[in-house]
Amino acid sequence: MSDSLLQPVGEDALLTATRAIVDADLKRLTVEIDLEGTYPEAVLRNLGGVGAFAQHLPAVRADGAGDLGLAIKAMAGVSHECLSTGFCMWCQDTVGWYLQNAEGSAIRDLWLPKIATAEVLGGTGMSNTMKAFAEIEPLRLKGQRVDGGYVVNGSLPWVSNLGDDHVFGTLFALDGEGDRTVMALVDCASEGFSLRQSAHFTALEGTRTFACIFENVFVPDAMIIDHDGKGFLRRARAGLVLLQFGMGVGNIQSCIDMSREVEPLLGHVNRYLDDRPDQLQQELDDAVEAVLALAEDPFETSDEFFREILELRLAAGELAIRASQSAMLHTGAKGYLRSAPAQRKLRESYFIAIVTPAIKHLRKELEVLAAAA
Ligand SMILES: Cc1cc2nc3c(=O)[nH]c(=O)nc-3n(C[C@H](O)[C@H](O)[C@H](O)COP(=O)(O)OP(=O)(O)OC[C@H]3O[C@@H](n4cnc5c(N)ncnc54)[C@H](O)[C@@H]3O)c2cc1C
Repeated sequence: MSDSLLQPVGEDALLTATRAIVDADLKRLTVEIDLEGTYPEAVLRNLGGVGAFAQHLPAVRADGAGDLGLAIKAMAGVSHECLSTGFCMWCQDTVGWYLQNAEGSAIRDLWLPKIATAEVLGGTGMSNTMKAFAEIEPLRLKGQRVDGGYVVNGSLPWVSNLGDDHVFGTLFALDGEGDRTVMALVDCASEGFSLRQSAHFTALEGTRTFACIFENVFVPDAMIIDHDGKGFLRRARAGLVLLQFGMGVGNIQSCIDMSREVEPLLGHVNRYLDDRPDQLQQELDDAVEAVLALAEDPFETSDEFFREILELRLAAGELAIRASQSAMLHTGAKGYLRSAPAQRKLRESYFIAIVTPAIKHLRKELEVLAAAA
């Protein structure tokens, strides 16, 4: 893979380049993404070009180090403008993270450079897996061992950042083999696989979210990320959830900024509101500090470490809802216009609270971890 190793980009350079893409390419599209469901493909490819999807991946960086905190910061910069695009970034970062954590090097060497640069775009169909492992619902995909791979059947209701030439990571149960599971990279062009547009979404319509239908899809061994799905998720879970903070931080900060912007005009009466910008900023800054400290060690697998991440994740979902409600109340009637950022942020913030792990899921997992401690 030496030809495809990427020189690490300094933090200032990456965040400046990300901001430039937001200003030049994304800002003019945000309302269209929200109201018409435009998929920000060019923005994602440009972000890949400046290294935004490579920072947390030691396997593709020439210095062999990883900086998950920087990946979070870049995603926050984009989510500050548009959560749909920020969520697509999370999908791309996360499928890269799965490959980083692959059991064998062949699949990583082949696919990771393409994902890290956004030459190939992709996603993650792991909501069902995480809910199944938390005993919220059964696994929806079943595989059978055959010569040279597995045949997979079933469906996933919602997977984002997909297209006919995209890939995504997902996990399937092995038929008749107890609780054995397998983690795979699925090529959307596989025979028997189809993407179905079965729903339209508020706020997230631009994320190319499809139902994924598997009808006797052959997944060759070369596309297996780990033959032990449970062991894989234990390795990858911290990074997967930590990366989601990029969405939360960007969304919350934008709500605070919006409330601050109207202070000169409305501060004399907005001071009667709850969740004032300075208070929210303090809570956000504390959370960011804690997240960045945990992000220094994303390969840690202990339950105690994961519990800390889940607690912060829960707080981020709750804070996002409070911050966006506060932005609505601070900006008043202007925020209620159809193209106004405040009402868009409100709809976006609820996604942070419901995307897996959702607030209810987090509370359940934290209860189980507390009982086991
Ligand atoms: C815009 C959008 C994008 C998403 N992108 C992804 C993604 O990229 N990858 C991913 O893994 N997940 C994705 N999800 C799913 C998401 O992470 C959550 O799982 C989902 O929002 C529901 O979570 P919940 O815990 O609130 O479950 P609940 O809403 O309580 O639902 C529990 C379960 O009931 C079933 N269910 C409910 N409604 C339906 C339906 N209409 N059709 C079929 N089954 C149904 C599903 O199994 C669901 O998980 C996406 C969801 C949305 C809305």
